[in-house]
Amino acid sequence: MSTSSLVPLVVLEDVWKSYELGEVTITVLKGINLSIYSGEFVMVMGPSGSGKSTLLSLIGGLEKPDRGTIRIVGENITRYSNGKLKDYRRRQVGFVFQFYSLVPTLTALENVSMMLELLGKGSGKKVETISRQMLELVGLGHRLQNYPSQLSGGERQRVAIARALAKQPPLLLCDEPTGQLDAKTGQEITELIRIVTKRLQMTTIMVTHDVSLMRHADRVVQLRDGIIVSDLRPQGGFYS
Ligand code: ADP
Ligand code: MG
Repeated sequence: MSTSSLVPLVVLEDVWKSYELGEVTITVLKGINLSIYSGEFVMVMGPSGSGKSTLLSLIGGLEKPDRGTIRIVGENITRYSNGKLKDYRRRQVGFVFQFYSLVPTLTALENVSMMLELLGKGSGKKVETISRQMLELVGLGHRLQNYPSQLSGGERQRVAIARALAKQPPLLLCDEPTGQLDAKTGQEITELIRIVTKRLQMTTIMVTHDVSLMRHADRVVQLRDGIIVSDLRPQGGFYS
């Protein structure tokens, strides 16, 4: 094990989260303790409604917990102002969602470039070069000028992955990225996420309810009713 893998990138301590629905309070996360190490590919599994998306949005700084702390490289993001939290999301986190969230009027290349331009990452030529490289990395070098409507579901998700990777965030968060895909494409996309994030030395947390995807992960965390019921790191990893 390298020393970098001993450094926890993400640490959750006794994290609680509830939502108010009218008169009713739903407690979605009930005292989550979890440390995720640099370079890990962690899969969070569990049935629908178990709190997977909520967990991901707390780690990604999209929401704040009611109680507990979330540390990213030692920094307690639960103490951040909204402005600082936004900055954390922009710089440190790449997001991939189930429904791709591409801009339909932009080509694959423009969808990736747009993200970098919004982040103020340099001039047109430089941005285009990085975007092209990212699309090549996800196997879409031949689809740069295609619009989302001209791409298959798997190809659309590849564009979304390239877009998330382009700013080279240390942390990639994927919420049911295969939810819209057939079984075979789902396997391919999960393996792609693994390969590209390992190559870029990123840490990945992927949420899914599909147990057939487990074999791609270094570690599988099972969530039930807002509680972690198992956390398995198969000895030597699945790929040793
Ligand atoms: P999962 O991703 O595992 O399906 P979620 O984290 O999306 O689970 O949701 C867990 C529970 O929290 C569900 O019962 C859901 O209805 C509820 N929930 C999630 N987000 C909100 C919200 N913004 N307002 C109210 N209830 C919510
Ligand atoms: Mg969900």
